[in-house]
Amino acid sequence: MGRFFLTTAIDYANGDPHLGHAFEKVGADAIARYRRLRGDQVWFLIGMDEHGQKVSQTAAEREIAPQALVDEVGAAFQAMWSRLSISYDQFIRTTAEAHKAGVRELIEQIFVRNPDDFYERSYRGQYCVGCEAFKADSEIVDGKCVLHPTRTLEWVEERNWFFRLSRYAGFLRGHLEAHPEFLQPPSRRNEILGLLDQGLEDISASRSRFAWGVPFPRPTSEGEHQTTYVWFDALPNYWTATRVPGSGAEWPAQLHVIGKDITRFHCVIWPAMLEAAGLPLPERVWAHGFVYFRGERFSKSAGTRLDLGEAIDRFGPDAFRYFLLREIPWDADGSFTWERFEDRYTADLADGLGNLASRSLAMLEKYRDGVVPAWTGGTALDEAGERSVAAYERAMDASDLRGAADAAWELVGAANLYVQQCAPWALAKQGNDAALDTVLAALAACLARLAVLIGPFMPGKAQALWEALGRSGTVVDAGWAIAGHPALDGVTVRKPDHLFPRPAPI
Ligand SMILES: [Zn+2]
Repeated sequence: MGRFFLTTAIDYANGDPHLGHAFEKVGADAIARYRRLRGDQVWFLIGMDEHGQKVSQTAAEREIAPQALVDEVGAAFQAMWSRLSISYDQFIRTTAEAHKAGVRELIEQIFVRNPDDFYERSYRGQYCVGCEAFKADSEIVDGKCVLHPTRTLEWVEERNWFFRLSRYAGFLRGHLEAHPEFLQPPSRRNEILGLLDQGLEDISASRSRFAWGVPFPRPTSEGEHQTTYVWFDALPNYWTATRVPGSGAEWPAQLHVIGKDITRFHCVIWPAMLEAAGLPLPERVWAHGFVYFRGERFSKSAGTRLDLGEAIDRFGPDAFRYFLLREIPWDADGSFTWERFEDRYTADLADGLGNLASRSLAMLEKYRDGVVPAWTGGTALDEAGERSVAAYERAMDASDLRGAADAAWELVGAANLYVQQCAPWALAKQGNDAALDTVLAALAACLARLAVLIGPFMPGKAQALWEALGRSGTVVDAGWAIAGHPALDGVTVRKPDHLFPRPAPI
């Protein structure tokens, strides 16, 4: 048990939330909820990256002020996160005064501790507004950024502040080698080690002729006041958040959850900035993969973008959360398809967990007036429950969210099989009360375990199941101990309305 400061990437305020954003927030939320269940003092930070050229260009195209644009986009993201029950504790926006002051302070701290780390240099290069980064020749194909083939690269020539990133290659390599857990999954770690082998180039820390951002704290030798380069503004949000009045976050973070495309920023530039400022590094960075829809990560043409609202409305927010985390591995790429979503909903939720809960609680009502008999443990179902809880815990502790969901649904399968094999209706007919009590108590205990295990994935349904089991308060407050000691002796349960109604035929 301890402090657990968890962050996700702040989202770029230049469009609506899409499937990739939702996957990241839902996955991080499952981790936050699991850590709370385990008794950790969790602080979960998410937010918006609101500066940069892309935002000011979009605002100009729409003929509105950049602040009006980011206010509108930020509100749309927050509405989506509340719809998906993302249990964040703090929402940071990089246009907030506290953040801007923190960025300047961090840069100033680097100037003071390592005066050579910033220097002025004239620079020329191809700039991708999509990446908000200068691109090397190797990252340009047919004159376009490989990640943004629809955008035109900009030729930029200016005299900027540069950060001496090259100095930190040895430090970063040493850190990655001494702390294999720092960057996961291992594929990402190998990628960064490979990058360090090639050596690091210094990076621009400020931009000229561009105002939508945090003013860089020091003018150039020619007296020009520049704007902080957007990554130098965005990355510090994890640290500036801890300094906002009322924040319960303490630096360093225990875990940064990010997408694999920004690993380099989080595992090279950010730790180098922290080291330069004399601040501790985050404990771990987890870089998840991409979610594809109709073969694409982002929509490049009409019809290739999943409408998140439509996906949530199909079976409700909990089913959508469950599907994303059960179907798409947390450490690699995956795809959303409507067909798989409907199949999984029917098999895992309606016919699996929903049917188990509904038949078990109906039998308790029918044969025992809803009162759960004394639990003795030791049945085949209890043993399956113990195995699933252990497998779930191992998977969650290793950030294997899909593995944890697999473990929970193994128990669902075992329980439905147990009902078939024990045939409680036959025991009732025979008047075998002792055996019937054992079976019914084991089923109630199994449902109590499942209410705990599904909580990080489907918080609303977990609570509904918890209440159907006659418990008051929240399943989170009841805590992880329930998974080990799930007895519900003497509690009165009630069969809920369908937890997961069977889908209407289309
Ligand atoms: Zn790009």
